[in-house]
Amino acid sequence: MKVMKFGGTSVGSAEQIKKVAKLINDGERNIVVLSAMSGTTNTLVEICDYLYKENVVSAKETINMLQQKYVQTIYDLYSSQDTIDDVDNQIDAVFGLLRYLADYDFTSVDEREILAQGEIMSTILMNAYLKETGVESVLLPTLEYVRTDEDGDPDVDFIEENLNRLIAEAGDAKLFITQGYICKNYLGEIDNLKRGGSDYTASLIGAAVKADEIQIWTDIDGMHSSDPRYVNSTHPVESLSFEEAAELAYFGAKVLHPTCILPAKLNNIPVRILNTMAPEAKGTLIYNFPPHKTVKAVAAKDNITVIKVYSSRMFQAYDFLSQVFEVFEKVKTPIDLIATSEVGVSVTIDNTTYLHEIVDRLMNLGKVTVDEDMVIICVVGDLEWHNIGFEAKVVDAVRDIPVRMISYGGSNYNVSILVRKEDKVKALDNINKALFPAE
Ligand code: ADP
Ligand code: ASP
Ligand code: MG
Repeated sequence: MKVMKFGGTSVGSAEQIKKVAKLINDGERNIVVLSAMSGTTNTLVEICDYLYKENVVSAKETINMLQQKYVQTIYDLYSSQDTIDDVDNQIDAVFGLLRYLADYDFTSVDEREILAQGEIMSTILMNAYLKETGVESVLLPTLEYVRTDEDGDPDVDFIEENLNRLIAEAGDAKLFITQGYICKNYLGEIDNLKRGGSDYTASLIGAAVKADEIQIWTDIDGMHSSDPRYVNSTHPVESLSFEEAAELAYFGAKVLHPTCILPAKLNNIPVRILNTMAPEAKGTLIYNFPPHKTVKAVAAKDNITVIKVYSSRMFQAYDFLSQVFEVFEKVKTPIDLIATSEVGVSVTIDNTTYLHEIVDRLMNLGKVTVDEDMVIICVVGDLEWHNIGFEAKVVDAVRDIPVRMISYGGSNYNVSILVRKEDKVKALDNINKALFPAE
């Protein structure tokens, strides 16, 4: 069994849906995870923003515009009037729900119900297209088998039990269609796995059915050596270890959601990133590769805040760092990078919800300074410390850029540097040229 996840652009038009239908009908047993059509989730977020501001008129205008897009897709996608009428009714019911929710007091429960509709509509469109073209498929409603627990983490046992039950009930069916991103929470409310979370759904499913492979089909031919939105000459990376992929995803390589690596790694399932627009391209294979002394790729994570605590009392004080970390633990705020000296420590965070509280508490320990709008540039590869020269190349590449922090040695897989937001593109470009000079 294979899991094939298609992102927003991959199912972003009637033409794309037809392309995906061909790819998934390959004679094998596949579970197909679909995202919302590109732009849909953003529009649903916009609708919710209007409703939070009690601007029902703008919310309804936006709902109408979105429905128009779906109506057009229906006409472009199907050839028989019966299918057009049937799907139009189903999609109209979804938009009826949106209008209904817009008319009443708006809560976060309604918001999550609205956000779920994009993925639900993608599966309606795909399933009906398969049916019209004579391909048998079974719709697996994600809300029946993906549940999160009180901490918001997926309830892996529930998923495994219920997904496998639904699959068994479908007999020897070969093709399953299901929604990414959405779930129920422990209260039984509709919820989601956070933006970009369809990749996570795919790997949770892969783990639950012990899939042979998890394929992430997107709009680019694999994980590239740097972020193609900022760097011109990048190339697809042929293979990555799970650890390397996890670092890249966590530090900003948008092509993979950071949470999606762990379920695959724990179950030893290869993850392949493939391009729906060029299915013959090799893409990137993520698996348990032994390290082989190369730098693979670079990613950048925005909106980083760095906090420095400086105190002469830190000198030889064995409990200073534990007191600093306790502050972050109290407010459940994870730290990304750390740099320490005998008299101070700098740490970075990306969640600033509790920044004031953190700073207030840290002021008891020393002088505190905060720099916002920073970017972590993370160079990933086989950077085990005996492999000489890589750190030097990275640092040399940014010699004319102010560097706020450098972190190396935490894992065998990355060197990270912290720069200002305005220096991000130049830093990425310089590092790309230094590490991959043939590009
Ligand atoms: P999908 O909708 O298929 O989930 P995403 O937009 O989430 O697709 O991810 C694909 C995009 O990720 C690419 O179009 C590309 O712009 C961006 N991206 C950022 N960093 C990288 C990288 N290192 N390699 C490939 N793509 C990247
Ligand atoms: N549709 C959701 C989003 O845009 C989930 C996903 O695409 O992975 O964030
Ligand atoms: Mg994505």
